[in-house]
Amino acid sequence: MMRALLLLAAAKALVPTLPTQRRSSRAALTMMAEKKDDVAVVILAGGTGSRMKADRPKQFLPLRGKMIIKYSLDLFLNDIEGICKVVVVLAEQYRQDFKEYADRVTFADPGAERQDSVKSGLDSCPEDAALVAIHDAARPLVTPDEIYSVFGDAREHGAAVLGVPVKATVKESGDGKFVLRTVDRSRLWEVHTPQVIEPALLKRGFAKVDAEKLEITDDVSVVEQLGAPVRLTLGEYTNLKVTTPDDMVVAGQILDQRRGKSGWRKLLFWK
Ligand code: C5P
Repeated sequence: MMRALLLLAAAKALVPTLPTQRRSSRAALTMMAEKKDDVAVVILAGGTGSRMKADRPKQFLPLRGKMIIKYSLDLFLNDIEGICKVVVVLAEQYRQDFKEYADRVTFADPGAERQDSVKSGLDSCPEDAALVAIHDAARPLVTPDEIYSVFGDAREHGAAVLGVPVKATVKESGDGKFVLRTVDRSRLWEVHTPQVIEPALLKRGFAKVDAEKLEITDDVSVVEQLGAPVRLTLGEYTNLKVTTPDDMVVAGQILDQRRGKSGWRKLLFWK
């Protein structure tokens, strides 16, 4: 036992620990248990991901031997309660790698911009879904706790997005060379996915965005344009979007740490 504890301490020291903010998801789980399967999930995998400088879009790269998109796809299909449908927005040319999912998901064609891909996915969601959860395929590290929390907040408020308070000092620049001002960080959040919205609200928002030709970069912005509330759900700093080669390294270490932890737990509580 002593040896196991020492080894655990040594392993922890080897892996850099990123700060996480944990909270109990019991309330969200209870809420989910009372509901029927009425959340449609749209996994967005229609981007080209040029910043990774790889031979294929980032969501199709292997991370510790498994394609990045398949981490969240497996999570939604196998481990999350309350889901009525999973739609994967994926170009035809990549679908041969998803044959094992063909019975359990619907594929939709990507659009030129992210919002076009979201609309395409939304068209394949059941009419009677109470919520639609939009998730970036390039975020493989989202956890069940985060998903249940954001589902719960969206049920209560109509729209919710996972995010974390910004930790960095942020400067604004006018010309990209000199500092214009320092932004008040205490009010800033970095938002992640899933972003979870009532489908009717999302459709109304898209109608406004289209009519007024507004630029949006994420899904809840559509709801903001309507002046409707969007709840910020506290997520984890580890829910990173794998965008550049550095992110692959960090994501791999987080996965190792998670797997290592469960391995050590098993060892410590064995017998
Ligand atoms: O490009 P960005 O990193 O913002 O993309 C976020 C997610 O949206 C990725 O999972 C990407 O595959 C997806 N996307 C999409 N269709 C687009 C652009 C991006 O499905 N036209």
